[in-house]
Amino acid sequence: MADQRYNLFTEEHDALRASVADFVAREIRPFVDGWEKERDFPRSLYERCGELGLFGLKYEEEYGGSGPDLIADAVVTEELTLCGAGGVSAGLGAHKDLGSYYVYRLGSDEQRKRWLVPSIRGELISALGVSEPGAGSDVASLKTKAVRDGDSYVLNGQKAFITNGSKADYVVVAARTGGEGYPGISLIVVDKDTPGFRTSRMRTVGWWTSHTGELFFDDCRVPAENLLGEEGKGFVYIMQNFQWERIVMALAAVAAAEKTLEMGIEYGKNREAFGRPIAKFQVWRHKFADLETEIHAARCLTYHALRKIVAGEDALREVSMAKWLSTELDWRVADDVLQIHGGYGYMMEFPIQRAWRDSRLGPIGGGTTEIMKEIISKTYGL
Ligand SMILES: Cc1cc2nc3c(=O)[nH]c(=O)nc-3n(C[C@H](O)[C@H](O)[C@H](O)COP(=O)(O)OP(=O)(O)OC[C@H]3O[C@@H](n4cnc5c(N)ncnc54)[C@H](O)[C@@H]3O)c2cc1C
Repeated sequence: MADQRYNLFTEEHDALRASVADFVAREIRPFVDGWEKERDFPRSLYERCGELGLFGLKYEEEYGGSGPDLIADAVVTEELTLCGAGGVSAGLGAHKDLGSYYVYRLGSDEQRKRWLVPSIRGELISALGVSEPGAGSDVASLKTKAVRDGDSYVLNGQKAFITNGSKADYVVVAARTGGEGYPGISLIVVDKDTPGFRTSRMRTVGWWTSHTGELFFDDCRVPAENLLGEEGKGFVYIMQNFQWERIVMALAAVAAAEKTLEMGIEYGKNREAFGRPIAKFQVWRHKFADLETEIHAARCLTYHALRKIVAGEDALREVSMAKWLSTELDWRVADDVLQIHGGYGYMMEFPIQRAWRDSRLGPIGGGTTEIMKEIISKTYGL
């Protein structure tokens, strides 16, 4: 982390950063290689994060939080990202910033007490189920149905690619309660043990420790009181919440890119060819300078967008820019750093292979690069 506060962070944020970094160094990083082999990380890590208050920074004390402080929450995101395994930070992040955050933003007091409070403690794990096998970018075309029947909704359909999907205790599900298109979508919380709800785990290129799940709903009957917010407003809620999801992805990508670049410089200093460290060749020195400059630029844009969100301003364009720029950059940095590793870069023993696989998700998840550019260019009035 560059030694600057960017007119964003206070001394308290710096202290929080140091304590989360210490937690990551002692209780996560030493174990991630083993967890990668197991393709999983323990549920107790959510509880430990809960104990340390890391899930509560966006929330008031009445729910067990210590905020609301979105900037403090961003600090947690950045530091958890540095644990060395994208799957761990993604699993914790999807809980912190997606499933449970939807409950806070849209839920009644009763719903918050039921799902959010134990989520802040890390006792319940959450997920957000929007994407389907046939509808990802085009959210408005999703097909999962929720038909009202007395005091229940009966869900039928399928979701795909859901982070924490096969691990979560509850999922905030986007389902069609009305007609075609975006006005027919609602958000409904489905508890894991609900009859007619089952999950399976998907195999992924990266993010090995996170559970990327498929969700299946077969006549799954959910109490109508599990509806979040108003019926038919789900699409609007998803679009609003995408702003937070995307800024979080940008923050994580910048933090990861910086760490990956450090890894590349270190490797280049220690590996010799033609009688000198590889990093001393001008082409690599300049490559590092290019990448560091771009990381700094992406960080400034990301913090600018975060500042606008915190101020309650419209940050649609800046968030979309920060999301695509930072995630594409993270992937490019990982690819260049893999290249400086030569043949070792292609071996599973070196951490760069994981950074390379994990960073590939950034330009896809949470709205692809192409969709970000659609959003930005739609504001030109063309
Ligand atoms: C590991 C992982 C974790 C995920 N976690 C979650 C989660 O927790 N919850 C959740 O709901 N979803 C999740 N997703 C789903 C993710 O958000 C979608 O994969 C993503 O939005 C893209 O949708 P898609 O896969 O259907 O691709 P598609 O929409 O089929 O897109 C395919 C390609 O077409 C391009 N394309 C589409 N429309 C346009 C257009 N208008 N102009 C130009 N190009 C276009 C896309 O950019 C992309 O390159 C996750 C995905 C992965 C891989």
